[in-house]
Amino acid sequence: MAQRIFKGIPVSAGLAIGKTHFLDREEGNSMVRVNIIPEQLPQEIERLKRGFELALNDLENIRKKVPKDLKEQAAIIDSHIMILKDAKFQEAACQYLRLKLVNAEWALEYAVKDIEKAFSRIEDEYIRSRVQDVRLVAGRVRSQLFGQPRNVNAVSERMILLAHDLSPADTIELKLDKIMAFATTTGGKTSHAGIIARSLQIPAIVGVEGLDEIQDDQLVVLDGFKGKIIVEPNEEELAGFKELRRRFSDYYSQVRRNCYLPGETIDGFQMQVLANIELFEEVTAVIDNGGEGIGLYRTEYSFLNRNSLPSEDELFEEYRDLASIVYPQRVVFRTLDLGADKIAPLFPHIHELNPALGLRAIRFCQQNLDLFTAQLRAILRAGIMGNVSIMFPMISGLQELQEVKKIYFKVRDELRVQKVKFNPDLPLGIMVELPSAVLIADLLAKEVDFFSIGTNDLIQYSLGIDRTNKYVSYLYQPLHPAVLRSIKYVIDAGHEAGIEVNVCGEIAADPYCIPILMGMQLDSISLNPQAIPGIKRIIRQTTMDECKTLLRQVLNSDDVLQSNRLVRDKIFTRFPEELMFYTSLIEE
Ligand code: PEP
Ligand code: MG
Repeated sequence: MAQRIFKGIPVSAGLAIGKTHFLDREEGNSMVRVNIIPEQLPQEIERLKRGFELALNDLENIRKKVPKDLKEQAAIIDSHIMILKDAKFQEAACQYLRLKLVNAEWALEYAVKDIEKAFSRIEDEYIRSRVQDVRLVAGRVRSQLFGQPRNVNAVSERMILLAHDLSPADTIELKLDKIMAFATTTGGKTSHAGIIARSLQIPAIVGVEGLDEIQDDQLVVLDGFKGKIIVEPNEEELAGFKELRRRFSDYYSQVRRNCYLPGETIDGFQMQVLANIELFEEVTAVIDNGGEGIGLYRTEYSFLNRNSLPSEDELFEEYRDLASIVYPQRVVFRTLDLGADKIAPLFPHIHELNPALGLRAIRFCQQNLDLFTAQLRAILRAGIMGNVSIMFPMISGLQELQEVKKIYFKVRDELRVQKVKFNPDLPLGIMVELPSAVLIADLLAKEVDFFSIGTNDLIQYSLGIDRTNKYVSYLYQPLHPAVLRSIKYVIDAGHEAGIEVNVCGEIAADPYCIPILMGMQLDSISLNPQAIPGIKRIIRQTTMDECKTLLRQVLNSDDVLQSNRLVRDKIFTRFPEELMFYTSLIEE
């Protein structure tokens, strides 16, 4: 019997029961070499030519819709049209078909590789980088070859979406009236796909082995609590899942009733509970779930899936509206964290072997000053609302921070000279998410008004594991002594300097980790809005004493598995419901 249960990493809680649709099955297969026999040659050549023709039609239609003022975008599309019309490119692919007797996709890949080789010898860096256009164009032809340009919502009824990979750009396109849950073959515990799934409140699993064995239109249960997909569930299993779904919905409505109470322990220790958002629209979820402000606005998400950069005024209006909706509570605007897996189509020329260690976040901004300046101006102008803070991601050292501050002050001075209305006194913070920043937290603390510890990246960079890679996901250990000592060191250094310390990584939404963070006397946490009611409930039922005892035990342990067991046993007996209905970063 074919495999019926598929396991992966649960990243967004909940259960979905429905039919499947595999988004990029062919895309995965298209990169596979298939040998053909000489008799198939005319048909395969015809298919390849048709792929070019359809891609050209598609692009010409897009070109017609580009507004007149977007000259740069129009020029890029024109250059892609030229590549598609270039008979030599098409002929080179056909030539490989004849020569190697392979499928059209593979022949196209041969032709692209040849062009890449030729371009790599060009000295002019700009021209060399244009080879990316050829790749993009080839991607368009390839989508046409398997007959379905990528569209995450292309389903006729509500479906469970399966895919090899979903980029942050794909996930923000997801429409809830089309997609009820998703699973991917790639991805790790804190991949951005999971972060978006939690914001959308749809169950999700990543890193699923053998996912493409599941056929389209099969009935499955996707269990976002345990990270399982069950194909063709029997009556008994279905009844069990429906019952669990009902209990989850009861639990959620029950905890939501108390979500406006403060995050305060039985013995009076208060921790502020703020929200993380990726898109403006999520502000309603923050309010509905009792968020006490926005501790992290991941501003880069509104730059993905765009063909042109937003203007300063557009950003200003968005930021001002957001600040006015949550006023008097605060909004922390994190400046662009573009790069790594969050690359906007606007920057196709950036190619890096190790993007997570490359031109990301603040480094990207320092090298794209126009963009950075426009964003800083917009945030400073929105600051007149009185509840705006600004935060720089991925700070690695003191000089870097001082240089970034210099840019910030220069922008501020320019606004002053131009007599534009703005707030000169925004609280200024940094994300502490690199081990180097941890070790000099005492020095950095003198330069800023607050710290926010980004544990998603801090764990990735401290333990040397790609947060999006399922093969090393088992090493992603929040209770690793190195991680806990780092967090504690930063909190203590911040407090020593008299500044506020926040944690905004996914551990802030993890029921197992929260008592440990509280034991460290953290000032605030920031997490996805949907997790706020449950996390507040845990805070409100604990005492600082028990948090400190647990923290001491964990800090004294040199064995992460023993810490995991200890924390699981302790928290599970205290909060069985939360643990049933939340995903955790801590391994069983
Ligand atoms: C983090 O790194 O913990 C964080 C909150 O930022 P992001 O997940 O957007 O990298
Ligand atoms: Mg980060």
